[in-house]
Amino acid sequence: MPDPTSQCQDALHELYGYLDGELTVEKRAAIHRHLDECQPCAEPYDFEAELREVVRRKCQEQVPDSLMAKVRAALADERASGAGPSA
Ligand SMILES: [Zn+2]
Repeated sequence: MPDPTSQCQDALHELYGYLDGELTVEKRAAIHRHLDECQPCAEPYDFEAELREVVRRKCQEQVPDSLMAKVRAALADERASGAGPSA
């Protein structure tokens, strides 16, 4: 049986590809299943998916790396401030 923590890491690692539409149908389905069952993974996914959708609509072009860096920093900051599971 796989370690659930590494399952989460795999899922999060794939999220960026998922959001970019780079994954296969099978991978999307697997990630979707994981997100359905795993709230800690689903939360940042929802946030980023929503943000990217807004940016895509407004800009009609690729999200700049600088913006994604800010998003990642904001997510990390949110976790550091105590919203996430304690270490
Ligand atoms: Zn998870």
